[in-house]
Amino acid sequence: MEYAIELRNITKEFPGIKANDNINLKVRKNEVHSLLGENGSGKSTLMNILFGLYQPDEGDIYINGEKANIKNPEDAHRYGIGMVHQHFMLVEQMTALENIILGNESSGFFLNKSKSYKIVKEMVDKYGFKIDLNEKVSNLSIGMKQRVEILKTLYRGAEIVILDEPSAVLTPQEVIELYGIINSLKEKGKTVIFITHKLNEIMEVADSITVIRRGKVISSLSKCETTPEKLAHEMVGRNVETIVSNENIKLGKTVLKIKNVNLLTKNKDTISLEIKEGEILGIAGVDGNGQLQLEETVIGLKPQVPEKVFFNGVDIGQMSISQRKSMGIGYIPSDRFHRAILPSFSVKENVLLGFHDNEPFVNKGIINNKNLLSKTESLIEEFDVRVPNASVSINKLSGGNQQKVVLARETSQNPSLIIAAQPTRGLDVGAIEFIHRNLLSLKKQGKAILLISAELSEVMNLSDKIAVMFEGKIQGIIERKDFDKERIGRLMAGN
Ligand code: ADP
Ligand code: MG
Repeated sequence: MEYAIELRNITKEFPGIKANDNINLKVRKNEVHSLLGENGSGKSTLMNILFGLYQPDEGDIYINGEKANIKNPEDAHRYGIGMVHQHFMLVEQMTALENIILGNESSGFFLNKSKSYKIVKEMVDKYGFKIDLNEKVSNLSIGMKQRVEILKTLYRGAEIVILDEPSAVLTPQEVIELYGIINSLKEKGKTVIFITHKLNEIMEVADSITVIRRGKVISSLSKCETTPEKLAHEMVGRNVETIVSNENIKLGKTVLKIKNVNLLTKNKDTISLEIKEGEILGIAGVDGNGQLQLEETVIGLKPQVPEKVFFNGVDIGQMSISQRKSMGIGYIPSDRFHRAILPSFSVKENVLLGFHDNEPFVNKGIINNKNLLSKTESLIEEFDVRVPNASVSINKLSGGNQQKVVLARETSQNPSLIIAAQPTRGLDVGAIEFIHRNLLSLKKQGKAILLISAELSEVMNLSDKIAVMFEGKIQGIIERKDFDKERIGRLMAGN
C-alpha cells in the first residue's frame, strides 16, 4: 500500500535527550491521523522534521511512496505539506487575506490582490471557514487566527496539513468548529495530522493513531480498535484513572460569599455566589464571559474596588492580594506565566514567593536558605515535581511540573479557600490526574474551592455545584445530581 507519508527509522538527538528514537510512522491518504503523546514525548520534533525545520540524524521520509528530500519548509511546501504551529506566526498589523497570500512568491503580492482574494474566497467557501478576510489579524480571536494559519497552508497547495496541538489555545466552542474544519478538509480529500495529548479529541476526530512515549513509537492503531483507557495507558506507561470523580461530604460554614458584583463593564449585570467548607463550586462557561474578572475580584486584582466580597464573614473587598492570601486564600491563577511564577527564578525562589513573610524562611528581610531549601525539597517530594534539584530555574520545567510547584506553594499554608483558575490548562494527563486528586483531597479536608475552568468535563467531574457564566452573569446553577452536559451547554450559549 502506498502511504501519503511514511517515516522510516527517524532518530533525532538534542544535547542530552533523544527526542525521536527510531520512529516509524505511516499515514494513509485522506485520513485524520493523530499523533498522541505527553508533553515532551517528541511530537513537535518529529513533525518539524517532516516539515523541514529540523534535519533528522538518521532515517528517511517517503511521500506518496517516493523518497523525499526535505531540507527546509519550502521543500515541504513543494511536497504538499503544510504545518500550523502551536504558536502562530502571523503579522498582526495585516489583514487575514494579506497574511494568507504573504510569502507565497508565485502570488505577486500587491499586483494580484483582487485575484488572490477570489482564490482565497473560493477556498473559504469550499471548506466552510467562518472568517472575515479583510479584518486585521490583531482584531481576530485565537480561533480565527488559527483559521488564517490553516488557510495559509491551503493557499500554498498543502495536501497534507499538520496541526500541532491546535486545540490547546481554543475555547470549547472553537474546538467544535475546528473539528468541523478538520472534517471538511478530509471530505475534500486532504490528509490531516493532528497532534494532541488529549484523549477525548482523538475519539472525536482521528481515524488512526500513533502513540509515542519518550521519543519511541508505542503503538499504531485505528480508532475502532482502541479505547481512551488503553490509549492513556500507552501514552503514560501506567494505568491512569482519566476520570477522578467527586463524592459528597457534609458541608460546613460559608467560606466565600460574593454579593451583587458587576464583572463586565459592558453591562450592569451582577453576580452573587457562596461556597461552603468542603464544597467545590465549579464555574463553567466559554472563556471571556467574566471568569477572569471573577478570579480577579476574589483575589483582589480587579481595579474597581471595593466589591462586596466576604471571606469567613469578613469583608475583604478593600484588601490587597497579599492581605487576602495571608488570611487564608490560596490562588492558582489562570495566567500561570505572569501571575504565578517568576520564570527566570529557581524552583526554590518560586516556593519562597508564598513565604516571604514567614519567620522560618525570612527573618528581618534575610532569607534563611537552609530552611527554605528543606521546605522546598519536602514539597517537591510530596507533590511529585520532576526536577533535578531545587535550584534549577522554573522555566526549565514542563507546564505540569510548574503547576505542581504553584499548587504546592498555594496549599501548603493551610488556606480555607482555594481559587483554582484553569488549573490544568495545557497540562498532560498525568499532571491533570495529579491536580484533580489534590483538589478533591483538599475538599475532603474541608477547604472551599472555587474551580474556574473552560474544560467542561473537568468542572463536571470535580464540582458539587456548577454555576454557568454567560456575559458576566450566572446563567444558571446546577446541583451535582442534576448535571447534564447538554443543559450546561445551552446555558453556556446564553439560553
Ligand atoms: P512534544 O511536542 O511531544 O511536547 P517536543 O518534540 O517538543 O515534545 O520535545 C521532545 C524533547 O526534545 C523534549 O525533552 C524537549 O525538551 C526536547 N527538545 C525539543 N526541541 C529542542 C531543541 N530545539 N533543543 C533542545 N531540546 C529540544
Ligand atoms: Mg509539542
